[in-house]
Amino acid sequence: MIPGAFDYHRPASLGEAITLANELGDDARVLAGGHSLIPMMKLRMAVPEHLIDLADIDDLKGIDERDGTLQIGAMTSQAEIIGSGLLAERCPILRETAEQIADPQIRNVGTIGGNVANGDPGNDMPALMQALNASYALTGAGGTREVPARNFYEAAYFTALEPGEVLSAIHIPIPPAGHGYAYEKQKRKVGDYATAAAAVLLTMEGGVCTSASIALTNVGDTPLFAEAAGAALVGSAFDEGAVGAAVSAAEAIASPAEDGRGPVDFRTRVAGVMVRRAIGRAASRAR
Ligand SMILES: Cc1cc2nc3c(=O)[nH]c(=O)nc-3n(C[C@H](O)[C@H](O)[C@H](O)COP(=O)(O)OP(=O)(O)OC[C@H]3O[C@@H](n4cnc5c(N)ncnc54)[C@H](O)[C@@H]3O)c2cc1C
Repeated sequence: MIPGAFDYHRPASLGEAITLANELGDDARVLAGGHSLIPMMKLRMAVPEHLIDLADIDDLKGIDERDGTLQIGAMTSQAEIIGSGLLAERCPILRETAEQIADPQIRNVGTIGGNVANGDPGNDMPALMQALNASYALTGAGGTREVPARNFYEAAYFTALEPGEVLSAIHIPIPPAGHGYAYEKQKRKVGDYATAAAAVLLTMEGGVCTSASIALTNVGDTPLFAEAAGAALVGSAFDEGAVGAAVSAAEAIASPAEDGRGPVDFRTRVAGVMVRRAIGRAASRAR
């Protein structure tokens, strides 16, 4: 339970961090809040020779709104997401989701950048980012490129991040005023990862669904954007036929691992229940 030896680096700027990451190559890992990486190092599932701590880089912190887009610095903590008045007004599902991550101590230190860059299918923010159609700014020696969250996750712990790149910011198109939203998470106990969870965002006009976006947490190797599930709701008044079709479409793409959270059939079914509950709550909130 003691990590292997490593050298510790604490750059003062993003440029310095990227230079270090490129110099040190595969032997280095970026350190954010450390609440996923350090446990993996203690288990020797990760054995980096160098840690590049991003804690002193002010450019990676903060929450802002620009041209209809929310910009969240990668080193913004989960607690800061919960406490942000701007996010509560513009995109309240961020707070609802962050409040269901782990416990207050972990949320005080764990960052949104670490949560989405980690590539663990159990992390809650990646599916939400897919439902929101967010994108990630990936900064490397050659500049910054933008990758949609829906294209970022390749397999468990494999993402579109290239060696030497740092995820510097998250960009979220602000959902329309009056949208409905819900993040529903089934977990065995407080502080646990999801048995299954679902993020739902939707809009309504005259009682009819005009758009819907659904994504699933921890029922596959990656977060799952459930495109067909959202499409099943559009044009409906959330009657049983449409909601049942959305639930079936979500269950059809789920392929959870059998583990301590339950067998495959059970976890698939829980994913469907989370989708059903999230649709109901999101529809009740839409104006
Ligand atoms: C007991 C416990 C329960 C938890 N429960 C949950 C839960 O229910 N839901 C949930 O979502 N999470 C949960 N977590 C994880 C927690 O939210 C972590 O804080 C989060 O996953 C990672 O964020 P971090 O800032 O701690 O990243 P770190 O642990 O520092 O980094 C994680 C990984 O991402 C990489 N990385 C970090 N930042 C960047 C960046 N800016 N650019 C490129 N790569 C980067 C690191 O190199 C590392 O590989 C739990 C953790 C613990 C210890």
